[in-house]
Amino acid sequence: MKTTAEIIIVGAGIMGCAIAYALAERGVSDIVVVERDAIGRGATADAAGGIRQQFSTETNVRLATASVRVWETFADRFDTEIGLRQQGYLFLLTDEAEAETFRTNVALQQRLGVPSRWVEPDEITRLNPHVRLDDVIGGTFCPEDGWVDTYQATMGYARAARAMGVEIREETTVTGIGVEAGRVTGVETDGGTIASRLVILCAGPYSRPVAKLAGIDLPIEPSRRMSFVTEPFDRLPSSLPMTIEFSTGLYFHPESGGFLFGMGDPDQPDGWDKTVDEGWMMATVERLVDRAPAFEDASVRRGWAGFYEVTPDDNPLLGFVGEPAGLAVAAGFSGHGFMQGPAIGSCIADLVISGESHAIDISPFRPSRFAEGALAQEHNVI
Ligand SMILES: Cc1cc2nc3c(=O)[nH]c(=O)nc-3n(C[C@H](O)[C@H](O)[C@H](O)COP(=O)(O)OP(=O)(O)OC[C@H]3O[C@@H](n4cnc5c(N)ncnc54)[C@H](O)[C@@H]3O)c2cc1C
Repeated sequence: MKTTAEIIIVGAGIMGCAIAYALAERGVSDIVVVERDAIGRGATADAAGGIRQQFSTETNVRLATASVRVWETFADRFDTEIGLRQQGYLFLLTDEAEAETFRTNVALQQRLGVPSRWVEPDEITRLNPHVRLDDVIGGTFCPEDGWVDTYQATMGYARAARAMGVEIREETTVTGIGVEAGRVTGVETDGGTIASRLVILCAGPYSRPVAKLAGIDLPIEPSRRMSFVTEPFDRLPSSLPMTIEFSTGLYFHPESGGFLFGMGDPDQPDGWDKTVDEGWMMATVERLVDRAPAFEDASVRRGWAGFYEVTPDDNPLLGFVGEPAGLAVAAGFSGHGFMQGPAIGSCIADLVISGESHAIDISPFRPSRFAEGALAQEHNVI
């Protein structure tokens, strides 16, 4: 077990593992990833696995597109089956202002090479014949969007990183971050101290409390989100796209012979409550049946809650924090982090090694933007 490392990464979710892999791929493998639980068991395990390119900001579209290219080749490249299903994301729009915004977003996505398109109600019926459309103006669809198995993807990265010499230390909690003369010196853990001049925080929803160990405050709040799966259910085909009623955030997609579904609660207070709220489950089911009446005959098998890691502009903090020197962060993905893991890995690895993210300009998501008043709001948050 190492007591010094060139780089320490805090957290072995999709971000910690993808960044460790990308660094090792670039020849920097003297890395310790410290994980208090087990690999991929944090927010990454709670995610619906959705991957989409339909975003409203150029940076997010580029991050998503670069990641989709990796998801498409992941099974061969990492010898890991991730259950990639590219059945598309279909957004249903019921409000004129929303529709206008989505038309603008589609133009941006198409300019960046994404095959998304505006769809009229008759095409929506062909894509998903099971949704009620009387209040729907139109929608957008991208056939390359879909979903994957988040745990297998994270394990694929972790195995590949370990094979190149990265140490991933599970069941070890970071309890302190050393800072001397304005620079990080390493981390303290419940299993001893590890010295390093470079620490990357990838602690998901816990990134704010972990950053406080270094005396800095990151604007990342935990917000409970619940997901549910039905018992096996074949009244709707397993070929349907991920379908989203944008005005409520209701979504559903086929999963393991049944369907996975959820809906964002606009009144959900920030905080660490991880219980499943039966009342919200009933409200979600009611909304689901209203939009897709065939679900009346489905029954819910189980539900779970996890935390979105929400920032004031629904976008992550990527890069060095400034003070203390040597401390970088990749966190605050506001509910769309899993899908961006591959691109974030490459961008952060390049930034750490050469001071610049070569393939994609991630400077709009620099941690200092909040203090500068230069927010980069993402509109397409589910
Ligand atoms: C219900 C739900 C549905 C979602 N659906 C999607 C989706 O469809 N698509 C999508 O892209 N995203 C989705 N997300 C968001 C996605 O889960 C996150 O953005 C992403 O997984 C963040 O990955 P991460 O590696 O940053 O965090 P995590 O996976 O949380 O990893 C952080 C790790 O840090 C560890 N850690 C924390 N504190 C310490 C410490 N002190 N010492 C050591 N280790 C520590 C944790 O144990 C954890 O394993 C969803 C989230 C939720 C809750």
